Amino acid sequence: MFKGVTESPLSLWSASAPAAPATSPLVMSIDVDVAIVGGGFTGLSTALHLAEQGSKVAILEAQGLGHGGSGRNVGLANAGLWLEPDQMDAALGKAAADRLYRFLADAPNVVYGLIERHQIQCEAVRNGTLHLGHSAKGVQELERRHRQLVARGAPVELKDRAETQRLTGSPLYQGALFDPRAGTIQPLAYARGLATAAIGAGAQLFTQSPVTDIQRQGEHWLLKSPQGQVKANKVVIATNAYTELLFPELKQSFVPIYYFQYASKPLTEQQLSRILPERQGCWDTRTVMCSFRMDQAGRLVLGSMGNLLQGDKLRHWSDRMTSKLFPWLGPVAWDYRWVGQIAYSNDHLPHFHQLADGIYTCMGYSGRGIGPGTTLGKAMAGYLLGDKDAMPISPTSVDTISWRDLRHAFYETGARVYHARQCLI
Ligand SMILES: Cc1cc2nc3c(=O)[nH]c(=O)nc-3n(C[C@H](O)[C@H](O)[C@H](O)COP(=O)(O)OP(=O)(O)OC[C@H]3O[C@@H](n4cnc5c(N)ncnc54)[C@H](O)[C@@H]3O)c2cc1C
Repeated sequence: MFKGVTESPLSLWSASAPAAPATSPLVMSIDVDVAIVGGGFTGLSTALHLAEQGSKVAILEAQGLGHGGSGRNVGLANAGLWLEPDQMDAALGKAAADRLYRFLADAPNVVYGLIERHQIQCEAVRNGTLHLGHSAKGVQELERRHRQLVARGAPVELKDRAETQRLTGSPLYQGALFDPRAGTIQPLAYARGLATAAIGAGAQLFTQSPVTDIQRQGEHWLLKSPQGQVKANKVVIATNAYTELLFPELKQSFVPIYYFQYASKPLTEQQLSRILPERQGCWDTRTVMCSFRMDQAGRLVLGSMGNLLQGDKLRHWSDRMTSKLFPWLGPVAWDYRWVGQIAYSNDHLPHFHQLADGIYTCMGYSGRGIGPGTTLGKAMAGYLLGDKDAMPISPTSVDTISWRDLRHAFYETGARVYHARQCLI
């Protein structure tokens, strides 16, 4: 029996995370320096770093803390972006790309530093990640990435086929790019830990408090929620793929892509000794990417693109995929499955926008949001406190994506067709 389906909050992460700090809906009028809409990594990190520097700050979250991508993701705390560094150069120009590259290369240090400093119990493991080559072309991609990363001083290593098989327990992959800077976390536990730290620093956090409207009122902004309101000097919109109700153009600035995951029952000691024995988190070079990792209890967490859980059509995907990845493993029982939405920006780069005088947003993380959300949230705090160089990206106007809904449907259909074929062969 599955314990959680589709967008149900009962993912593995919500079943195994420590309890969230006590919060309640906003039922009064409050005044703050900065109001933040959205209680994921971006909003929580912004709030924590602002509050630590003495700002009066409040988060309004429409659902529970970590309800969005922050509580649903794979938990790969990576350095850098999906884009290859040379692609970043081409998109931004060398100087701007170098700045963003250096900033995000340091992101795991910031994430694991916060975990350490605030003693966040989030199954943090920093044994690196493996980007796995599924074909000769995939291995060429890894070699290209390796060259580009080494040229920028990254301590990455290519692994040959035999070593990749040893590190994964899978005969499927022909090579891997190992990044020792990265690791895995329990993402919802990390979000809740950031929330506890932000509250400890003096931030006010309100849940079940959707912001339905933002209006100018003299020098301030007034954020309205069904049972209360916030008067703020500045506002941060930290809603990424879960953007709702506000600034409709923002929702048009990314293509939402579903990503689903399954988590098994804890594996046996014998199975655990062969599968990811050094506990790296992995993803592969397929266009319809597959990811896998272990959690602290020894569950296999397996995922891919699409919303396969919708309509319950392909419930055999996890069995099929596991038998391909680990033919020696035998039958696996599955306890949890869930899905989340990723915000793919047009150029797969994060974007920083000033939406009005005093209203800012950072979003479009394109599936890389643990490091970027945390570090850009921290940088946003510095920016709002007057350090105009804090943000590693320049503000741009909001570009809406043409044929957004069609693109979403195209990617979703492509992923489903791909998975359906995988289940048949
Ligand atoms: C399935 C999946 C796998 C992923 N895997 C990884 C990974 O392994 N590594 C990685 O680095 N990144 C990964 N990502 C990306 C990463 O999770 C996100 O980029 C990151 O969580 C974004 O954080 P955020 O705080 O900006 O937004 P979110 O965490 O999405 O938070 C936005 C919040 O805003 C709230 N909200 C929206 N509108 C309103 C409103 N009007 N009023 C109040 N609140 C509102 C939502 O309820 C939501 O909680 C993955 C994402 C998904 C979905």
